[in-house]
Amino acid sequence: MGVAVFAALSDGTGIAPANPGQKALRALRKAQRALARKTRGSANRRKAVRRIARIQMRVANARKDFLHKHSTIIAKTHGVVGVEALPVRSLSASATGTVAEPGRRVRQKAGLNRASLAQGWGLFRTLLADKVADRGGRLVEVPAADTSQTCACCGHVDAANRPSQAVFVCGRCGHRANADTNAAINILRRADSALTPVEGHRTKRPDDAGTSRRAAGCGSTDPPPVEGGEDVSCSASGRAG
Ligand SMILES: [Zn+2]
Repeated sequence: MGVAVFAALSDGTGIAPANPGQKALRALRKAQRALARKTRGSANRRKAVRRIARIQMRVANARKDFLHKHSTIIAKTHGVVGVEALPVRSLSASATGTVAEPGRRVRQKAGLNRASLAQGWGLFRTLLADKVADRGGRLVEVPAADTSQTCACCGHVDAANRPSQAVFVCGRCGHRANADTNAAINILRRADSALTPVEGHRTKRPDDAGTSRRAAGCGSTDPPPVEGGEDVSCSASGRAG
């Protein structure tokens, strides 16, 4: 879950954030300015308060619609979904304020976006958990620690692996990827091993996780094999032809 993208998925796609439309924000600002000019206790002030509440309701409905839409898409196409555990405090912030003072905490666009983002994440995973469970699947929550610093290809953990917010470059194997996608693959892998009973032959080494390794696009940046030659990773290079 993030700010630049609402959610990054392990298949390399992302869900763009559902920012309240510019139109709604303009209407909200206008209604709030109008409210400021009204006399306390007047009927016009009450009307202005109601108008703000209506706009906020509209924005909230659009957000709920967005969350329903995307949780349904994922639940319909996946049986097991892994998500990062969210810090609890980000879920407690109230975005819309009270009916009596609806404008209080939504004065700034940034504040509105931040708060609705936190609320959205919480509701999103609740919806997702319900919808996945309805279809016989499961939502698995895993700790997010280090997932953004861990290479999805070789498992190397280093803060330097992430030179910028957007890019992941492994200092050991050179794996290069979208930073959010890389983290999403690590979260998927943690969810996967949380579900998988420990067996003798199965380890948690990333290289052994076939599907998530393919999802990571590992090796896709390797040069094509030279004519007559074998893949460089192949250990059978000793055989002379
Ligand atoms: Zn690596």
